[in-house]
Amino acid sequence: MHCRFVAASILAFLSFSGTAMAGECAGNPDALGTSRVLSIDPAEFQRLGTIQYKQTLPLDDHEVVLTFDDGPIPPHTDKVLDVLAAECVKATFFVVGEMARAHPAVLQRAYREGHTIGTHTEHHARLDRLSADKAEKEIADGFASAAAVLGDKNEVAPFFRFPYLDHTGAVEDRALKMGLSLWSADFHGSDWTFITPEKVTALALNRLEAQKKGILLLHDIHDRTAKALPVLLRELKKRGYRVVQVVPASGAVAKIEEKPGTTSPKTEQAALAKPDEKAPANTEQAALATPEKESAEKPKQWAPASIDQKNQKNADGVWHTHVKRRKTASAKGGDPFQNFFRALWRQ
Ligand SMILES: [Zn+2]
Repeated sequence: MHCRFVAASILAFLSFSGTAMAGECAGNPDALGTSRVLSIDPAEFQRLGTIQYKQTLPLDDHEVVLTFDDGPIPPHTDKVLDVLAAECVKATFFVVGEMARAHPAVLQRAYREGHTIGTHTEHHARLDRLSADKAEKEIADGFASAAAVLGDKNEVAPFFRFPYLDHTGAVEDRALKMGLSLWSADFHGSDWTFITPEKVTALALNRLEAQKKGILLLHDIHDRTAKALPVLLRELKKRGYRVVQVVPASGAVAKIEEKPGTTSPKTEQAALAKPDEKAPANTEQAALATPEKESAEKPKQWAPASIDQKNQKNADGVWHTHVKRRKTASAKGGDPFQNFFRALWRQ
């Protein structure tokens, strides 16, 4: 068991107040801080997040868990890390394997600064469209890539989030057999849509205020998110919210083997990493967005990178995958909850 998770578990056991933690934040006595560390056993917390599941984290009122998907990528992930460091806030990063291999130093920094590292497949694949075997490989490869960059698979938390939050029951079963805790979210900031940082902050806060606690989903690959974060964290502090970091319980590791030959010393891996031409699609499942009005910028419905896509770099330097709207997402059956919101968006 990796010592960092053990240390975190001890801290979780001891528990401490947010004030004490914030008081320890160098150079920022008024920092938001991390109020406590919550260690969870994936066997007990298999599915998390009320967007899709009945179960979520056992948080108290005014507790929030910050999660960031789709990175790492410079400079956006670095900016997010800067903001988190300034406030002494710890988050969970659900990283994409190919992104980790392309930007190992950024992932290593996130790890080094004490954040929890979960995974998000190797290629940000839409797992509901793959066979169970291929989906399992996507999950395993993503985990192995992160493990290779960090030098040890025990450095990677057995926390997983489905790209676009999409999956089938068969794939979910495979992921659970791999010992993973499946993270959806309780709310998000719509930060994959073309809205302003101010709007991201407002949406995230409004949704948090509606539930008073929960898992917030954001993306560290967007400039708007990095720009939204300082104000968001200040507002959390002002409104009396406390940030909780989640780590795996002692001994909880994914049942995923490292790829032979992929694990190497961190710095060597960083030097050897070859930037990948591709980047993952930059969005989560727009169909799962809450059905509230979000100005005229209704999130697009995204399709996997393999079909009808045209990648282009946006002004912020991030690859955006533009795809044609899917016609009959719900015709294949699937989750009634997802189909309901898909139907809403088609209206
Ligand atoms: Zn994603």
